[in-house]
Amino acid sequence: MQTIGSVSDMRALAARLRAERGGLTLVPTMGALHAGHEALIGAALAAGRPVVVSIFVNPLSFGSNENFAGYPRSLQDDIELCARLGVDAVFTPPTEEIYPRGYSTYVTEEAVSKPLCGVSRPTHFRGVTSLVAKLLNIVGPTHIFLGQKDAQHVAVLRKMVADLNFCVDLVVIPIVRDADGLAVTVRNRELTSTLRQEALAISVALRRAKEMVDSGVRSTDRLVAEVTHILGKHYRLRVIYASIVDPVTM
Ligand code: AMP
Repeated sequence: MQTIGSVSDMRALAARLRAERGGLTLVPTMGALHAGHEALIGAALAAGRPVVVSIFVNPLSFGSNENFAGYPRSLQDDIELCARLGVDAVFTPPTEEIYPRGYSTYVTEEAVSKPLCGVSRPTHFRGVTSLVAKLLNIVGPTHIFLGQKDAQHVAVLRKMVADLNFCVDLVVIPIVRDADGLAVTVRNRELTSTLRQEALAISVALRRAKEMVDSGVRSTDRLVAEVTHILGKHYRLRVIYASIVDPVTM
């Protein structure tokens, strides 16, 4: 496995892998890899194409009130995991390589990125689309693998790929959850056992909504009310939104 920091080296290796093996998959991550990432990378490898995993904590996706410097980092362990899994290359550029001094070009999706998380994180998706557009240009993958956990990211990136005619297929893998039902994420690892117990109300509420839909309930107001009611019983949880939306348009 090759570990690459420069854009020009990444471009050259990606072109070679694509030519030799007839395709190339990109798995973009912010590192601190866990079981969710592992499943994503595993699915990408199982598809049979060479795999590039990018590890880059994207400063543009953090708001001014969000802790970019404090985001967990474990680069050496991440590189070892990727090597063990059989990844072809890890792209881990320094921040200045992606955003050199004077950098001034951004990609903004202006519809799907506005509601839901776009309300409380108004600059987040612009950071994601700007970075992923750059990664697509640098790596030139035929396929990009994303996790369903980040449903709005998937919708926004799908829209960007369509609107800007990127020639890449988007593949989405299901959410990986811990045994207790909570989705595996970098930030959930920081929860104390008490907070984790409270956070479980989120998956409990979502499962309850699904049961209601499966049993024929079609009123979105009733579903949202039930979810809000379950979450409301936990005083440490603050509901930013509970919403039922079209998965394509959000
Ligand atoms: P991140 O490192 O948080 O930017 O995530 C990188 C990719 O891994 C994204 O496409 C995520 O959706 C995906 N991912 C992270 N956690 C999970 C999970 N628990 N299940 C499925 N995919 C995940």
